[in-house]
Amino acid sequence: MKFGTKVIHAGLEPDESTGAIMTPIYQTSTYAQRVPGEHKGYEYSRTQNPTRHALEKNLASLENAKHGLCYSSGMAAIDSIVHLLEPGDEIVSTNDLYGGSFRLFRGVYEKFGIKSHFINLSDIDALQQSINEKTKLIWIETPTNPLLHVFDIQKICEIAHQKNILVCVDNTFATPYLQTPLDLGADLVVHSLTKFIGGHSDVVMGAIMLNDDSLQEKLAFYQNSCGATPGPQDCFLVLRGIKTLHLRVQRHSENGKTIAEYLANHPKVENVFWPGLTDHKNHELAKKQMKDFGGMLSFRVKGADLQATFDLVSKFKLFTLAESLGGVESLAGHPATMTHASIPKEMRDAYGISDNLIRLSVGIEDVEDLVEDIANTLS
Ligand SMILES: *Cc1c(COP(=O)(O)O)cnc(C)c1O
Repeated sequence: MKFGTKVIHAGLEPDESTGAIMTPIYQTSTYAQRVPGEHKGYEYSRTQNPTRHALEKNLASLENAKHGLCYSSGMAAIDSIVHLLEPGDEIVSTNDLYGGSFRLFRGVYEKFGIKSHFINLSDIDALQQSINEKTKLIWIETPTNPLLHVFDIQKICEIAHQKNILVCVDNTFATPYLQTPLDLGADLVVHSLTKFIGGHSDVVMGAIMLNDDSLQEKLAFYQNSCGATPGPQDCFLVLRGIKTLHLRVQRHSENGKTIAEYLANHPKVENVFWPGLTDHKNHELAKKQMKDFGGMLSFRVKGADLQATFDLVSKFKLFTLAESLGGVESLAGHPATMTHASIPKEMRDAYGISDNLIRLSVGIEDVEDLVEDIANTLS
């Protein structure tokens, strides 16, 4: 089945009892048993729920995975993966990482004896050097947030697997429409469904997709034991959102291209970060690894200090100033003080998350209106 068919059909059957085309919202906490232990596969909704189950099957199919697991947020999904590690184990990740993942690895797990290294993952020597016998997990985000670096998933997996290290890719920015990391060798894929997959800024949820049966068994045990599972109504909303994922991401990518090119030629813009630009430093790799380049981009405003950048991001009319990304509507953000404020300033400066950096999540509106909004704001 191809992608545009999977989003609509994979894992989904018309409801057996009524023929309902849409997966029902099984708003129930528990399920009747005929005699103790004899039931229809569902006992209690933290453990299993039919609406969530349909979504998990659909999501697995989108990533060409055998298994899918859903969580009440992207962070809960990421947290669950860290539960696979033991005290003394180490994580190697990128220095241009989602702020919440950085906060979790550093702020929560260090005190349990799990150390994390944040390096430039495109520097293969640095990667080799930061790996030791304690390294158990390499955490990749590509394209990265907010600077849109692209890392070579296949190459990193080859290095990791020589040393029995698991690789997880946070595929939130790319979506499975643009990139399927498991096909490139990754062991685990994680998503904030809150973003492109849900796509309508109306739900917070996360997911893990994977092939390995024994990892799936462990993760399902943690999912049920820790309990950060989503409700059926939210699962329904994500299932509904997914039905147009391919169309939305096509449009996000088209609009992203127009806006990236417009900004690249604007006299007040210092640089633009979008992997589809031919002068982006990872453009060739992005072309090889991704189907298109998406609607996430960031840019630096020439000579703007913190106040001038604040004034700009607050002046857009159509790009709403807000956290988050990946919805149908365009959003603007200021990474240094919003999404990445939990990263210390010295680290932000060293990585290039400067005060004059603006991040755009380009929506699926008519692009002429979006360009006009940017033109007016920058003038
Ligand atoms: C938003 C986001 C997360 C966290 O997901 P939540 O659903 O907000 O918990 C993780 N990774 C990336 C890349 C994100 O953009």
